Amino acid sequence: MDDNSLNVKVAVRVRPMNRREKDLKTKCVVEMEGNQTVLHPAVANMNKGDPRYVFAFDHCFWSMDESQKDKFAGQDVVFQCLGESLLDNAFMGYNACIFAYGQTGSGKSYTMMGSAENPGLIPRLCSSLFSRTVQEVREGESFTVEVSYMEIYNEKVRDLLDPKGNRQTLRVREHKVFGPYVDGLSRLAVASYKDIESLMSEGNKSRTVAATNMNEESSRSHAVFNIILTHTLMDLQSGTSGEKVSKLSLVDLAGSERAAKTGAAGDRLKEGSNINKSLSTLGLVISALADQGAGKNRNKFVPYRDSVLTWLLKDSLGGNSRTAMVATISPAADNYDETLSALRYADRAK
Ligand code: ADP
Repeated sequence: MDDNSLNVKVAVRVRPMNRREKDLKTKCVVEMEGNQTVLHPAVANMNKGDPRYVFAFDHCFWSMDESQKDKFAGQDVVFQCLGESLLDNAFMGYNACIFAYGQTGSGKSYTMMGSAENPGLIPRLCSSLFSRTVQEVREGESFTVEVSYMEIYNEKVRDLLDPKGNRQTLRVREHKVFGPYVDGLSRLAVASYKDIESLMSEGNKSRTVAATNMNEESSRSHAVFNIILTHTLMDLQSGTSGEKVSKLSLVDLAGSERAAKTGAAGDRLKEGSNINKSLSTLGLVISALADQGAGKNRNKFVPYRDSVLTWLLKDSLGGNSRTAMVATISPAADNYDETLSALRYADRAK
């Protein structure tokens, strides 16, 4: 099967060692070769047998060391491998979804948003989208781009772009034809990436962040940024027009670290179990869709309804939609357990 025709692509990306890890000369336990990722034991293994775990994915992105030119995958490579085909699909009128999954500090926001010097998938997708709306428009056609941005926290939805700054919970409803939607979610028209950027940074300011022992900035909510592309085609002779609408959902998931490790109790624990619930449901949904796409089990039940996240993403996940998941991991020995659990999650999603 040609790579671009896969309906679900699963990738893994390992981040570089951070300053602290370098200073402590922390052992690197991750190795990548071609489409394989190998996880080595964190401590010397005296037992017999092979203590390594070997996984195969659609893409393995090594971003540890820029001098390793043959395998280093910078932001441009990640975009070429995952972003471009989703955008092609969007221009054909289909929906698409990209997720970043991993423990806090493993590189989810770096991969999705990146920095001003090293923009990630979202800015690259947006700027390519706007240049294509200009290049590909023909006489009698027009493109419009709208965005919405929401947060799912403890199975409740909040609008991150509410012009009045309201923080109340919005209701999730179901339309007979169009399926699940959020009642009252703002949908704003945008004309350039600059517009999107400023809306996103406004939205990010109102995201729920709670301090955990693991990372002060640890984000405990899922943030879903939707870009809705409407292509209007006019038939100049008859004067009639038609529309093709597609939606790109870009999802920065809550940190995948388990509640126990972060010392959570009370509200934090409830929050942790809701996060785990949506992440595990998402994993099951993606894996059921991957089986359907590979023709293994076309009638497999897809448990969209089991979490708000998957329910709302139903129209971007099933049918002709394309999905890409990037599991971000740390190379360091002291993150071994979380890295193994992220690799297993990604492996199940294939
Ligand atoms: P998360 O969103 O998963 O909590 P971040 O994206 O904030 O993690 O990444 C943690 C730190 O590691 C940041 O300083 C980020 O710039 C850096 N980082 C993560 N991934 C990469 C990468 N692939 N290349 C370079 N730096 C990275």
